[in-house]
Amino acid sequence: VAEDVLYDVFPTFSDKPVSPAPFRRIPYAECMLRYGTDKPDLRNPLEILDISDLFEQTDFAPFRGKTVRAINVPGCASKSKSFFENMLKFATEIGMKGLGYVKVTEEMTFQGPIDKFLSDSDRQELIRRAELKPGCVLYFIADSKELAPRLAGQIRTEVARRMGLIDENRFEFCFVVDFPMYERDEETGAVVFTHNPFSMPQGGMQALTEQDPLDILAYQYDIVCNGVELSSGAVRNHDLDIMVKAFALAGYTEEDLQNKFSSLYNAFKFGAPPHAGMAPGIDRMLMLLTGEENIREVIAFPLNSNAQDLLLGSPCEVSEQQLREAHIKIR
Ligand code: AMP
Repeated sequence: VAEDVLYDVFPTFSDKPVSPAPFRRIPYAECMLRYGTDKPDLRNPLEILDISDLFEQTDFAPFRGKTVRAINVPGCASKSKSFFENMLKFATEIGMKGLGYVKVTEEMTFQGPIDKFLSDSDRQELIRRAELKPGCVLYFIADSKELAPRLAGQIRTEVARRMGLIDENRFEFCFVVDFPMYERDEETGAVVFTHNPFSMPQGGMQALTEQDPLDILAYQYDIVCNGVELSSGAVRNHDLDIMVKAFALAGYTEEDLQNKFSSLYNAFKFGAPPHAGMAPGIDRMLMLLTGEENIREVIAFPLNSNAQDLLLGSPCEVSEQQLREAHIKIR
């Protein structure tokens, strides 16, 4: 249904072409690798590659044993020195320790700060994997396995923007699917829910009892257009036993469930039917259709950054009478 609504709305209000039906479905893990974000802008033609295996034993300490990602940028080798300096400046600003690259010459040799750390077989392998041609630049991004994917995503977006590679006259939609159900909390090491604890785990009870929790996927999906998340949805968990088990894996007892989520806990006892859904936000669609960067520009009475509605003067002090009407007593 969401897909049909989007097809109807976008061509009606816009002369920009919409990506062909049906929308691509991109699994979350592939999305994080290729685009470095779960909100990919598919108008950007650049893709990220994992090349960590080539640097397991390298002499270059910043890459050794790290997660190393690469982005091939065709036609970038002819850019000026300041282009590369400014990209390095951007990389430093987002917390990277450097931004290595090699330029590919007409003779298919490499030039640039990373070349000296490569063996001949590394070079051949990079040419093969990244489909390098004369005039390409291969950017390298090395960091921890947690940080490298998102840093690579930011570099992908910024290089494409500076090279003018993003076609502003298109809408590119996709569904991002197969979000992980659980992740490890970096501070405590505990298994916690990744997104929505009320989603149905893929594989149901069997997955919860037999799989490593960190490998379990959820029936969760997002619709993304041009790098903006239009909507999130899920197949909900409607089975009390599966819900109790799913929460147990994240450290909740059945008593916690009864106390904290009593409405769902009680409702499910009476037998809830399977249900699923999602609802693309009209404000986000309008933001894309009007080319606004900030969602407040398309909302009639937007809240400011302190969540105040200045037009309606909300929030404000309430009178004793108003509190009484709502049966609220302040102590
Ligand atoms: P150096 O030998 O220290 O000058 O570094 C060689 C190249 O590696 C330079 O272009 C640095 O910007 C780059 N570099 C250093 N650390 C990283 C990193 N973590 N990720 C990507 N490139 C890096």
